[in-house]
Amino acid sequence: MNSEIILEEILIKRSQQKKRTSPLNYKERLFVLTKSRLTYYEGRSEKKQQIDGMRQRKMTVIHKKRQMIQKKNKKGSVDITKVKCVEVVKNNGAFIPCQNKYPFQVVYDSNTLYIFAPSSDSRYQWVKNLKEEIKSNNHILAKYHPHFWTEGSYQCCRQTEKLAPGCEEYNLFGDITRKPLPPTPNEIKLRPPPPLPPDEDEQEEEEDEEVVIAMFDFCAAEPHDLDLVKGEEYIILEKKDIHWWRARNHHGMEGYIPSNYVTGKKSNNLDQFEWYSRNLNRNKAEQLLKNENKEGGFIVRDSSQPGTFTVSLYTKFGREGLSVRHYHIKETAAFPKQYYLAEKHVFNSIPEMIDYHQHNAAGLVTRLRYPVYPKSRSAPTTAGFSYDKWEINPSELTFMKELGSGLFGVVRLGKWRAQYKVAIKAIREGAMSEEDFIEEAKVMMKLMHPKLVQLYGVCTQGRPIYIVTEFMEHGCLLNYLRQRRGQCHKDTLLTMCQDVCEGMKYLEQNSFIHRDLAARNCLVNEAGVVKVSDFGMARYVLDDQYTSSSGAKFPVKWSPPEVFNYSKFSSKSDVWSFGVLMWEVFTEGKMPFETNSNFEVVTMVSQGHRLYRPKLASNTVYQVMMRCWYEKPEGRPTFLTLLQTIAEIAENED
Ligand code: ADP
Repeated sequence: MNSEIILEEILIKRSQQKKRTSPLNYKERLFVLTKSRLTYYEGRSEKKQQIDGMRQRKMTVIHKKRQMIQKKNKKGSVDITKVKCVEVVKNNGAFIPCQNKYPFQVVYDSNTLYIFAPSSDSRYQWVKNLKEEIKSNNHILAKYHPHFWTEGSYQCCRQTEKLAPGCEEYNLFGDITRKPLPPTPNEIKLRPPPPLPPDEDEQEEEEDEEVVIAMFDFCAAEPHDLDLVKGEEYIILEKKDIHWWRARNHHGMEGYIPSNYVTGKKSNNLDQFEWYSRNLNRNKAEQLLKNENKEGGFIVRDSSQPGTFTVSLYTKFGREGLSVRHYHIKETAAFPKQYYLAEKHVFNSIPEMIDYHQHNAAGLVTRLRYPVYPKSRSAPTTAGFSYDKWEINPSELTFMKELGSGLFGVVRLGKWRAQYKVAIKAIREGAMSEEDFIEEAKVMMKLMHPKLVQLYGVCTQGRPIYIVTEFMEHGCLLNYLRQRRGQCHKDTLLTMCQDVCEGMKYLEQNSFIHRDLAARNCLVNEAGVVKVSDFGMARYVLDDQYTSSSGAKFPVKWSPPEVFNYSKFSSKSDVWSFGVLMWEVFTEGKMPFETNSNFEVVTMVSQGHRLYRPKLASNTVYQVMMRCWYEKPEGRPTFLTLLQTIAEIAENED
């Protein structure tokens, strides 16, 4: 049967830029392969961010999406008989500006579809199955382009014609990259066919204009950037750089804007509403509402269950001192989904539901009177000060007081262009392998997350070289904890761990290993948010005492056996260190294995000895640490799983 599904999965598709002016962007699409067609449907909803956390529940998402497969949601379809080449795209480690890092290409007629799979095994399945389906096609290419078409040329042969003949022999039956692991049941699923639309004509996705709204003001740093005015609309022209999109304002001016300063104009994107606070847990919401102390103060926040939301509501008249209530926003099972807080009142969208309850208590302890939001809701950091800029002119820096000093040298508070507060690290001569770092700095600047200390740029033209980063008012987490002994509630301690876990989840997703995660390498900002710092920097230290696992400065007490024995670093070795960091947090800054030498710790840990349960850590919290210290790396959880567990504890523990 021709319509039987061979493969289906949510993948990311790069826009084809058939017109010169159409934007280069990356969209999630549900791809379905049958014997006759490769069809793609509208991907996940706008709540992508929240659903990201549900990767492991992909099939649930697919299931929901399947209910949505209707003709109007079909975005494009390729006739299998017209396909001339299917192959992995070689990328030589260049940065891929979307979440999925495994590209492959489908060449048909005069077009190339670039598709990004979430894992090497997923890509293997798609390429293998597609090749199987096209093997009897008439026009299979003799030569193809192994690299991407970007910026007007093929990156392999630099030819500037899209239809330029291929530059490398194409082997339809050749091995593709590597042998896969056996596919998990979730990766391939045979299902009954979806209702296909009656007309099977070539249908191509129209690249519709994307309009966004600015959530913050942004002041253009360079002439190629564009100012943003909060609340105004912008048309997105290009998304080649994940952090700096090219946009046009309503005066027709064009330039680069920070992508994290804008939000989609769709009504179900909550970022544009002042009552919504992304990344705010129950504990922080309660603190905020209590501090505000206003009857009917409320916050809509993410629930611990990814993709769902909670309304936290404050009343002065709660029974038994219960001043904050948390109402989970419920969704109806039927499609299209509807939302409600109290059973009788059901709405098509969350904003409509909130609007209703702003006027009617209708089952809530009081109506939603005042939206409350963190005072720290100032503009977030940007990946550098401007598009494509990592070199900072030192004459634009003002040096102020000394903040501290570390392995690399002295850190000072400073200002960039007399306006933006920054931290400036002056690298002591001989402390760092500078050339290697400078090369890597360009990659590190692209790492951007609210729970990572942002690298803004470097001054490399003179000596000493300077590293310019986000300024964190309260300095390093270890001292912060020690200075506040006996003052931090255990909910606050768990929130600190959650902050670090979020930053680390991002590094894990980007296959970036920290190598020296510890409380001394995290910093705290004015709002008490903890961020991960110094990620990857261990590789550039020129000090044997630090780099050799038998050296006195090597962080043995934060290291798993595979690191102190074989220097085998991975995201799973970071997970071990994270467990130790949790222990540091819950002991309010004690030294792990306080009375033991590094040498003794190696023996103890190898024999199965682990750190004790800190008094402030509940059994559940201690279990999380213990899972991080599983002897074999593969037995340890990922940061994604850890974050889910910590969020659930934060939501449920009293
Ligand atoms: P190194 O990487 O050279 O070991 P660190 O990053 O540990 O240096 O910095 C040394 C000290 O400087 C920290 O403990 C902290 O007190 C201060 N510091 C470093 N970076 C910042 C920053 N971004 N904001 C505020 N203080 C900082």
